[in-house]
Amino acid sequence: MNKFEALGLNDSIVKAVTELGFETPTPIQEKVIPELLKGNTDLVALAQTGTGKTAAFGLPLISMIDFNSRDTQALIMCPTRELCMQITRDLQSFTKYIKDANIVAIYGGASIDTQTREIKRGAQIVVATPGRMNDMIDRRRVNLSNVRFAVLDEADEMLNMGFKEDLDTILSQTPEEKNTWLFSATMPDEVLRISKNYMENPVEITAGTKNSGNVNIDHVYYIVHARDKYPALKRIADSNPDIFAIVFCRTKIETQEIADKLIKDGYNADALHGDLSQSQRDHVMKRYRSRSLQMLVATDVAARGIDVQDVTHVINYTLPDEIENYTHRSGRTARAGKTGVSIAIINMKEIGKIRIIERIIKKKFTEGKVPTGFEACEKQLFSLVKKVHEVEVNEEAIEAYMPKIYEELQDLSKEDIIKRFVSTEFNRFLDYYKNAPDLNATSSRDKERFAATPGITKLFINLGELDSLDSREMKEYISEVSGVDAASIVSVEVKSSFSFIEVKTEAAEIIQGTFKNARYNNRNVRIESRGASGGSGERSGERRSEGRGGFDRKRTFGGGGNSYGERKSYGGRSDRGERSSDRGGYSKSNSEGSRGYGERKSYGDANTGERKSYSDRAERSSSRSTSSESSSGGGERKSNFSREKRPRKKM
Ligand code: AMP
Repeated sequence: MNKFEALGLNDSIVKAVTELGFETPTPIQEKVIPELLKGNTDLVALAQTGTGKTAAFGLPLISMIDFNSRDTQALIMCPTRELCMQITRDLQSFTKYIKDANIVAIYGGASIDTQTREIKRGAQIVVATPGRMNDMIDRRRVNLSNVRFAVLDEADEMLNMGFKEDLDTILSQTPEEKNTWLFSATMPDEVLRISKNYMENPVEITAGTKNSGNVNIDHVYYIVHARDKYPALKRIADSNPDIFAIVFCRTKIETQEIADKLIKDGYNADALHGDLSQSQRDHVMKRYRSRSLQMLVATDVAARGIDVQDVTHVINYTLPDEIENYTHRSGRTARAGKTGVSIAIINMKEIGKIRIIERIIKKKFTEGKVPTGFEACEKQLFSLVKKVHEVEVNEEAIEAYMPKIYEELQDLSKEDIIKRFVSTEFNRFLDYYKNAPDLNATSSRDKERFAATPGITKLFINLGELDSLDSREMKEYISEVSGVDAASIVSVEVKSSFSFIEVKTEAAEIIQGTFKNARYNNRNVRIESRGASGGSGERSGERRSEGRGGFDRKRTFGGGGNSYGERKSYGGRSDRGERSSDRGGYSKSNSEGSRGYGERKSYGDANTGERKSYSDRAERSSSRSTSSESSSGGGERKSNFSREKRPRKKM
């Protein structure tokens, strides 16, 4: 018996999926399909894209729809136009052998009148983005009173994009008596709230461990200096001649810049981001799908929902602010059982972020070495040689030219011909890579800075000069709060917004333990072992988000505020990115700093509520901090990290 048939699906569906090449149900399909086929099931499923979740809900849905009726019986909501079209295409292919099946996509940026006409023809299943659907409801272009199934796909992303109210409005137009199926890659409180509000005793299904990455993906990081990021990207591309990649950047501007550089340097690349018109985006996607492009440079939002087969590499040109996005990014490769590589090009300071990602995805990265110029050339050369070897010769067509070609080349030996032939393609690379430097940021100096001394543990603390602490005071403070003898604190290096403390290893744990809930001037104090944290940069960004509170900072790099509910629109999401950059920037720290001084009267341990007086600190600090800030304007804050996180004008 066919494995899909065994799950309870009927012949016409089994025939359609078999034609699509589906032989074995994916884990989520195995769990979800029989559950939904029972009928009258509400479902909450934790699942990423790429797991086969569209078929997991699509196939049972199709089984339960009455295609003899023209009523709209199912409504599928999803965050982006691309995903909307993708789901519609998938469902259309699943219903290939079902007469009168009509599945219609409703999304912004296309004619609402055409979409209305399509619905009027009788669409049993409507797949929609929330904004456009709300519009349709406002204009009374759609009747949802016969909906029996509501599917919320990528629910977390819809909320991230600020569609919460739209969803509430849309769902209020559907009958109470219906089944709701919710799919989400993450389960923040807002998603749980939806599940509570709209479902009754939902069945909960997890496909794989929460947030665990696809097992077929190799995760690799390359450590380079910030200035070498772009050359490293090129080396990686050149060392993989058959690369078919998505390169992720954090902002629209960076995305465009990198794509422009790649195009200028002769790569088949283009940009995909929200500043492009819909038709430009469609055009780029068409070229990428048809493989006219080898590298698609994209923002997280623009690349959401893209299902392109056989992506070989996902390249994190900049790591995402939110860790969840790393999983979404890497999930663009290794789809449907294939293998793939997810690469992060990072600087030394970002190694802590890699460790955090490893904990979340429950997979280890390997440290890659950026290929040398020689290696890149070698890869290109052998790719060419392989192509020559494998090319199909059109004997008939070429025959007429051969005598002349032999004549032209008669004074050359076989070896000469090979050399010359290869060189015509290859000299460009040789020239480029002549004397190419080693791009790996693992010089002995770098290593020294980050090497551990036996018996000594380096700790990072998110307090610094801006908190009116100098090294002596920092030592005192740590010793007082932790009870550790000051002699165990070997050295303190105070920076503007954070500090490094070297302590005897046996004291490190005590300090970390006693500081767990410590607060300093109404801020959480964080002490982390240097190995586990990215240290300087991200922390300085992070502290600036503290005032906003209420979100899981462990899951966010460099600020972020409340991850949900802030984003109002597509633009708003990017805007949020800008704001988080802004928080890491200089001007913001200035204002926060000055606001803070007046308040800085004490510090204490939140555990005990004990407050330790540092009453004269405010005055002493203002002068010092002011000067440190003015100098840091041109100095420390222009570190790699600050520059990367500098607010951009337009995103
Ligand atoms: P999705 O998670 O729905 O975006 O699906 C990811 C990809 O896997 C899509 O290209 C599907 O066509 C493909 N796919 C889904 N289910 C199966 C299956 N059982 N066997 C093979 N490919 C599948």
